[in-house]
Amino acid sequence: MGEIIYKTLIRFLFLIIIIWLTKNYFDEKLFWILSVLSFYFFLIHPAYLSYQRFIESNRNIVISTLCSSCKHFDKSAILCTKYDKHPTEDFIPCEGTDWEPK
Ligand code: SF4
Repeated sequence: MGEIIYKTLIRFLFLIIIIWLTKNYFDEKLFWILSVLSFYFFLIHPAYLSYQRFIESNRNIVISTLCSSCKHFDKSAILCTKYDKHPTEDFIPCEGTDWEPK
């Protein structure tokens, strides 16, 4: 999740620079239309697709692992907050010894 936010912020920075550099090449009305479209196609839509891929690739971990029912599991980051590690379908950082119900 942090990677999605990081990449989106980097794209946002580049987009602002590009928009600022190209502002004199268009009239004001076209400039705003292109700005809104570029924000959607280069910022919002890629972030949304990345988020959908993140959700899809971690669906099994959130649904069917031991960690998913533990109070130390943060499903927004797929993170064990007690061990500060990312559980997977094959890897449980505490090996079940520190599991606590939500
Ligand atoms: S304490 Fe153990 S069971 Fe709970 S989230 Fe962390 S690794 Fe998973």
